[in-house]
Amino acid sequence: MLADKTSTTYVAGHRGLAGSAIWRRLEADGWTDLVGRSSKEVDLRDRDATRRLFDEIQPTTVVVAAARVGGILANDTYPAEFLSENLRIQVNLMDAALEHGVDRLLFLGSSCIYPRLAPQPIKEEYLLTGHLEQTNEAYAIAKIAGIIQVQSVRREYGKHWISAMPTNLYGPGDNFTAQTSHVLPALIRRYVEATESGAPEVVNWGSGSPLREFLHVDDLASAVSFLLEHYDDPSTINVGTGEDHSIRHIASLVAAAAGYAGETTWDTTRPDGTPRKLLDVTRLRELGWEPSVSLEAGIGATVDWYLEHRAQARS
Ligand code: GDP
Repeated sequence: MLADKTSTTYVAGHRGLAGSAIWRRLEADGWTDLVGRSSKEVDLRDRDATRRLFDEIQPTTVVVAAARVGGILANDTYPAEFLSENLRIQVNLMDAALEHGVDRLLFLGSSCIYPRLAPQPIKEEYLLTGHLEQTNEAYAIAKIAGIIQVQSVRREYGKHWISAMPTNLYGPGDNFTAQTSHVLPALIRRYVEATESGAPEVVNWGSGSPLREFLHVDDLASAVSFLLEHYDDPSTINVGTGEDHSIRHIASLVAAAAGYAGETTWDTTRPDGTPRKLLDVTRLRELGWEPSVSLEAGIGATVDWYLEHRAQARS
C-alpha cells in the first residue's frame, strides 16, 4: 500500500501556499493524522531542531512543501539565501526522515530545475541536459539536489520516496509583497490598487512576451494526494496544465478580473527570465490525473481572496 491515510503524516511547510492547500486536500481525502509546525515553532534550517521535531512526532509519511520561495527579483537578489536555506531545509528533513525510517516521502520542487532552453513542452528526462536560467539558478540547483537525494535514498535504502515538479503556482494564501512575489499575485495587487486609485497606467515588469504555465494550488494539492496514492518511481514527475500563456495575456486577464480600464505598459529594464517554461504532463495524465480549475476561474477566485484577506496577507 503506497498511502496509509491513518499514518502520522508530517506536512512540512503547511502554512505556505502549497503546504496549506495540500493540508486542506489531504484532510478532505480522509487522511486522519496530519501534523504541521509553523516556521516560528520549528526552524527547519536548524538541523537539531528538525531532529527534535521528528523525535517528537515520529511521522511515517512526510510531504516536503517547506522552502524559501519567491519571484524573479527575489531569486535574482538573494541567490545565496535561496541556495543555502533550501539545501538546509530539505537535507535536514530528508536526513531526519531517513533516520526515522520514513517509508513514504514526497519532495516538491519547481519547473525551473529544467534547462533554460529545453525543448518545449519539457519532459522529465530533460533534467540536467543543459544550462539553467541565471535568475533562479541557485534555487534550481537546490531543488535538483533534492531530486537526487530522493533518488539516492530509494536506490540505497529501498524507500518509496518520490519527487514532483509543479509549474508556476498561484492561489489563496500566496505572497502578495511587491518586491518578492511571483508574477500572478504581483499583478493582482497592482491592478486592484490601480483600479481603486483610478491610476491611468499600470507598469509591469519585462517585455510581457515570456510564456508561463500556471497551476492553481488546489490542483497541485489534488495532484499531491493522487501521487501519494499512485506514484512510486525514481523519476521526478511534472505537475501542470499543459497550457501556457504570455505574461501580457495573463496581465489582461488580471486587469479584467480587477475591473481595471486604464493602460498597461512594460518596463523592459526588468528581467524577463526564461522565455518559455511549459511542462510536458503526459506522464501524470496517463496515470489518470487532470487539473480542474480554469485559469479565468482561478484568477477570479484569487482576486476575491486577496480583496477579502489583504489586511492579513503577507505584505
Ligand atoms: P519566473 O517564472 O521564475 O520567471 O518568476 P515570476 O513569476 O517572478 O515572473 C514571471 C514573468 O512575469 C517574468 O517574465 C517577469 O518579468 C514577469 N513579470 C511582470 N510583472 C511582474 C511583477 O510585477 N512581478 C514579478 N515577479 N514578475 C513580473
